[in-house]
Amino acid sequence: MNDSANEALHDKLQALNEKFADRLEEELAALEQGAERLLLIHEQEQRRQMVIDLHQRLHRLAGTAGTFGFTALGEQSRLLEQRADCWLNAARPSGQALSALTQAIHQLAAAAQTGTLGQAEPLENHEQLPAGCRIYLLEKNVEAGQEMCRTLSNFGYDVLLFPEPHLLQTAIQGQLPDALIVSQHEAELEEVDRLQQTLESPLPLLVIGHHVDFDSQLAAVRAGAKGYFTRPLDVTQLENKLENCLNLQLSEPYRVLIVDDDTDLAARYSLVLRNSQMLVQTLTDPSQLFEVMRAFNPEVVLLDMNMPDFTGLELAQMIRLNDEWLRVTLIYLSGETDINRQMAALLKAGDDFITKPIGDGALTAAVLSHAQRARALSMALSRDSLTGLLKHADIKEQVALEVERALRSGKPASVVMLDLDHFKQVNDQYGHAAGDNVIRSLANLMRQRLRRIDSLGRYGGEEFVAVLPDCNLEQARQIFDEIRQRFSALPFHADSRVFSVSLSAGISETDGHSSSSALLERADQALYAAKHNGRDQVQIALPR
Ligand code: GH3
Ligand code: MG
Ligand code: MG
Repeated sequence: MNDSANEALHDKLQALNEKFADRLEEELAALEQGAERLLLIHEQEQRRQMVIDLHQRLHRLAGTAGTFGFTALGEQSRLLEQRADCWLNAARPSGQALSALTQAIHQLAAAAQTGTLGQAEPLENHEQLPAGCRIYLLEKNVEAGQEMCRTLSNFGYDVLLFPEPHLLQTAIQGQLPDALIVSQHEAELEEVDRLQQTLESPLPLLVIGHHVDFDSQLAAVRAGAKGYFTRPLDVTQLENKLENCLNLQLSEPYRVLIVDDDTDLAARYSLVLRNSQMLVQTLTDPSQLFEVMRAFNPEVVLLDMNMPDFTGLELAQMIRLNDEWLRVTLIYLSGETDINRQMAALLKAGDDFITKPIGDGALTAAVLSHAQRARALSMALSRDSLTGLLKHADIKEQVALEVERALRSGKPASVVMLDLDHFKQVNDQYGHAAGDNVIRSLANLMRQRLRRIDSLGRYGGEEFVAVLPDCNLEQARQIFDEIRQRFSALPFHADSRVFSVSLSAGISETDGHSSSSALLERADQALYAAKHNGRDQVQIALPR
């Protein structure tokens, strides 16, 4: 595409962008009005027509909001669209599901108007649990089902139990869960398979079957199973799988930085990548590179090769002088087609070349594949392989970052140090593998309970550190005391034995002058006091 065509396209996109922001307000008002009127109508066919109208509006909003960078609004609209769809296709559409839908529409509009959906990081409140993942459990044996509900709710999941497939089906038509667990007694899997096929995309499914044999597992996979377990059930292992499935679904968008002195081109690439759900920042003045990288923390940087005052190669070499950015992938965007010169550049710095002009699909694919790889590598480097938590050095760095941030913002942050009680005995009595399972379960429980802005690391073997921004000592104490209670209620299995484990924790709070190492030290002293006092408790460090 030549320059003037690019310009024309950009202008068009820009105009659309502005138009969308104007239209958004009207669209939201129309949605709310529709939802309100719906509650006044009781005649079924009229209702149907109105839900069809709402469905169309939500569908449009889901498509356009995402394209114009309102990613969260787009995703929420998509979810509501699916719910409207379920209602329309339900054999017996329920009035309850409808009023839940209208309520959700009001919440969406309110969130969009207060701008909460535009923020990258919604600030949940510590007072309330992060919106628990909703799980539907199909289990004929009500007693066993209730036991499972209790254990999973200790992990922070919101579990609903259904003893019969048709009850499950009705519930799914009302509201989609985040995942499905099916305990197979007779022909439940076939019914679930049929149910999955009526959905736009199948739900993540875990199956509890009778035997570990080829046919049973094949049937499970055909119904869409992501995990297969047998009785007696180890719920903590099932939870671990559940968390893996859900994390895959909720993974954060990739962060891409585009450095190009051509504003229009940068804007165009940015639009294309955003359209594929990536978070994009553009930079036209390369002298700001380090500040922007520090603030935005990109996983991939696209560098224009030829800019007025610097070359992309120089910038790439400068980035590579800093070990902290070793995990960032550097891709040159250039009109350079001479393969020898490309190779010469790559030998100095940088990971790949994209030759301009490039089609939208090819650009997206190239960036996406590098971003996936960069993220996987970064995870492998900084995450502990047993728990997926940050490693010692990374959580320490995170504590330092948050302590600095607390200093700047004037808001308190809390530092928590946590250690399992008598863990040596657990290993001795039940074996190292059972011990590992305990460590992993605690990590999962904490991940569920804490907010996304909290950081969590495995500090040592059975020792953990957390740092909670914007959270004072008393709030942190309550959260960790709840984690302590939930954890000690978890049943662990080794062979045919069931056991439980307790934990002790110590907490310190920022005070405007203590260093991060002083705060870790004070949390450790409080932990020591908790151990000394008889374990299975949370102690706070007295402020200095
Ligand atoms: P305390 O209540 O005083 O903390 O007693 P403790 O037995 O937990 O204390 P100690 O620190 O002496 O023992 C920790 C044990 O944790 C020793 C080690 O074998 C075990 N451990 C450390 N890392 C791992 C791990 O990754 N997996 C397993 N299974 N065990 C681990
Ligand atoms: Mg210990
Ligand atoms: Mg220890």
